[in-house]
Amino acid sequence: MSIEKHGTKSIDLSHHLSELSKARTISPLKGVMKYFAQPGILSLAGGLPSPAYFPVSDISANVLVPESFALSPTEPSTSLSWLWKLFGSHDATKEKTQAVTIPKYPVVTGEINLATSLQYGQAIGMAQLQDFLKQFISEVYRPAFEDWAVLIDTGNTDGGYDTVQPWRGCVLCEEWTYPSAVASMVPFNIKPVPVAMDGLGMKSDDLENLLSQWDPVSRQMPRPHVMYIVPVGQNPSGSTMSVARKKQIYDICVKYDVIIVEDDPYYFLQLGTYTSKDDRFPGATPSGKPMSPSFFTLFHLTIRFSFDYQGRVIRLDTFSKTIAPGSRLGWFTCNPAFAERLERQGETSTQAPCGFGQAVVTKILMHWTYDGYIRWLRGLRTEYQQRRDFFIDCLAEEFHLHAVPAVAGVWEGCTVYQASSKVKKSTSMTEKYSARDRTMFSFVPPVAGMFVWMKLHLDQHPSFAPGDEDTLETKLWTKLAENGVLFGPGWIFAANAIAEDSHNNDSGHFRVSFSNAEFADLKKAVTIFGQIIREFFQEEDL
Ligand code: PLP
Repeated sequence: MSIEKHGTKSIDLSHHLSELSKARTISPLKGVMKYFAQPGILSLAGGLPSPAYFPVSDISANVLVPESFALSPTEPSTSLSWLWKLFGSHDATKEKTQAVTIPKYPVVTGEINLATSLQYGQAIGMAQLQDFLKQFISEVYRPAFEDWAVLIDTGNTDGGYDTVQPWRGCVLCEEWTYPSAVASMVPFNIKPVPVAMDGLGMKSDDLENLLSQWDPVSRQMPRPHVMYIVPVGQNPSGSTMSVARKKQIYDICVKYDVIIVEDDPYYFLQLGTYTSKDDRFPGATPSGKPMSPSFFTLFHLTIRFSFDYQGRVIRLDTFSKTIAPGSRLGWFTCNPAFAERLERQGETSTQAPCGFGQAVVTKILMHWTYDGYIRWLRGLRTEYQQRRDFFIDCLAEEFHLHAVPAVAGVWEGCTVYQASSKVKKSTSMTEKYSARDRTMFSFVPPVAGMFVWMKLHLDQHPSFAPGDEDTLETKLWTKLAENGVLFGPGWIFAANAIAEDSHNNDSGHFRVSFSNAEFADLKKAVTIFGQIIREFFQEEDL
């Protein structure tokens, strides 16, 4: 497989670095590390334990085969069948695995071995993982500038935190966002500057207005020069940016010289559009639509343009959603100057990502090979598509769902599902259902990620008075929790509220995750939710 070169180098963006970041020097210890790898060197320099004293002589694992999950819902899967998902719990004995072993000492040159991976390592991560990721990034994201660098980190939460450190002042973000990202800014006195969202994520016109009208005096801070953004399967809103929106956002960031931190854990969970059960084509796979490209990608094949031709995107990838969160492993891809600063920072904090995690994940990837990992990711995508479809099918059974195109408001341009009570009407021959008018909640089926973002229509509550949103939202959420169903309360994702430790005014959302519960439990949770919300909206008496 060839690694394409596109002939452009990143531009100098070093004026974005803070004094703190610039002041980091190379760790004196790490400075001598480069000589350690020289063949034949007699090294008495480091405080390294002998590998003979590492208490593990090898690690063996049974690894699932890359074809474990079917590419289409109707194809038989080697480990989990549809029936298993619905009626049973997961049965590990049905999994098809292959055995791999990581020896302490290398048997073949270049092989992963514990003597190296459990030793002190480099802040940029293990060489074999670096090599795998370089190929992966070249093939999958096809970066538009050629001197990009990769740094292995301990996942995107840590990645985001590290990335924020080099800057001061304030950071642009979506109005609803991943709480840990904002929480990591707070102690550095970095303020989130929320930008309004719609069904495609951050709004480009609002971003342009905000930046063009920025008044440093009244705002008491200079115009923001860093953006933190989750463009695919956004957490919590589930929104995914179109190619055109990404291009608008990128161009605005070029115009106002803003660095983009692209936190993209759900990139490989792009599920396609939800189709109701009755209209669903049985063999459909989620690959019908082109995937939303990264901000990093050279070139969109149909529209033919580049995104990041300057090196102003710091991309954060993680193995948390594709291998396992406990591996605590991810990586940055960014321009070499930023990567060098991040490496200096890593040297004096984690030193290097955990050797056990790196060894096992790298072994799995090398065993699967690039093609096998891609096959694994495609299987995962189908799995999450089925979960999303099943969960929304359950909502459709429990509620009357009315699909309407939104012509204005936060979900402009999307098909919004408005949920109201189903009213059973008995006739002499049959039972029919009709909808009541009152919308209790609405949502847009996500095309990526793990979440359904429900907007509660609290103004439809019989005792609603303006200003009651917080109380009603908390009441409903508590009632659900007391009845055994835990949803993510919307207020914990409001950028302003996280920073100021208070509730946001725009209350009335739940984030519901379909990623993890057994199918039978998803169904049960929706049934309980149906009972509680109908009771809450006093619909039960009809
Ligand atoms: N960033 C976002 C937007 C997330 O939704 C999550 C997941 O929970 C994370 C980061 C966490 O990633 P990691 O496990 O790699 O720290």
